[in-house]
Amino acid sequence: MVNLISDTVTKPTKEMLDFMMSANVGDDVFKNDESTNALEVKVARFFDKEAALFFPSGTMANQTAIKLHTEPGDQVICDHYSHIFNYEGGGASFNSGVSCKLVKGDRGRISATQVKQAINPPDFYHSPKTRLVSLENTTNKGGGACYELQEIKAIKGICTKHQLAFHLDGARLWNALVAKNHDPKDYGAQFDTISVCFSKGLGAPIGSALLGSKTLIEKALRIRKILGGGMRQVGYLANAASFAMDYHFERLAIDHRKAKELSEALESIKWVHSVEPTETNIVIFNIDTVDFSADHIISEFKKYHIELIAMDSTKLRFVTHLDYSDQDHNHVLETLKNMASL
Ligand SMILES: *Cc1c(COP(=O)(O)O)cnc(C)c1O
Repeated sequence: MVNLISDTVTKPTKEMLDFMMSANVGDDVFKNDESTNALEVKVARFFDKEAALFFPSGTMANQTAIKLHTEPGDQVICDHYSHIFNYEGGGASFNSGVSCKLVKGDRGRISATQVKQAINPPDFYHSPKTRLVSLENTTNKGGGACYELQEIKAIKGICTKHQLAFHLDGARLWNALVAKNHDPKDYGAQFDTISVCFSKGLGAPIGSALLGSKTLIEKALRIRKILGGGMRQVGYLANAASFAMDYHFERLAIDHRKAKELSEALESIKWVHSVEPTETNIVIFNIDTVDFSADHIISEFKKYHIELIAMDSTKLRFVTHLDYSDQDHNHVLETLKNMASL
């Protein structure tokens, strides 16, 4: 099977496993795990933030960030496609007692103008207090779209003016950095907190980090504990993340090229209604429902040993990744070519 359902399906390579086994572990709840401490320093430096904290999941890192920046009753501005709203089990309301003001952006990206319009007037006590703006880069449901730095800087300006905290869900920020050739330090300079995943394109089996100021990350440690995310000899996993940063970051360009080639091949298939712009490793395409359902398409691809997922009844998604070999890619391109000639 060629599995293109997500970039989370990758398995650790032999080299990654070797480096994991070489970890220098201790009890991380007592902050005595050297490999985890080293990873936290390394990822904080990479984005030029003061501190970082290792998390078991991106969801827990995002949820911690929301908790850090808000009080119950507050409101968070985010895109209607955002992961924090759609795919974290309602955690924003469950953990922090906040609501989300959903903005309809462009493929998951919201603009500075939209942010400005979404802020509730602070003296109007009938509406929730706007406290936090949360962006996602790259966007997940938006098909891997990337922000322009200019737009992020404009939104930061609005946050500063209105005293709003600014969080980035950077689960796939690595992909944006490679695709846009952006400097990670520019992101560190704009956001109060950033979450990054090691378990998506970078190919680690588990792990995320939350980055921020020393003060914020000290508070995050307590929240992570409350959420049940205190871990013990976790350096084995921190080493997987560290290895992923060193060896699986720049190669993301390969995933992006393959995604672009899939996207182009899909364009020539009759029952493909449209393919969304492909900027990184996510390819989203829409089908003509008159002829087919998404389930039918999935079972057709299964006959060729290719797995993809439906985003809804007319939207399908491929995600390229580390374990998607050149041979797999040729097979998928060949299959798409055959489908186009039918
Ligand atoms: C994957 C992902 C997360 C984190 O998800 P986990 O499964 O909890 O690691 C957060 N945000 C986005 C945009 C994601 O794609």
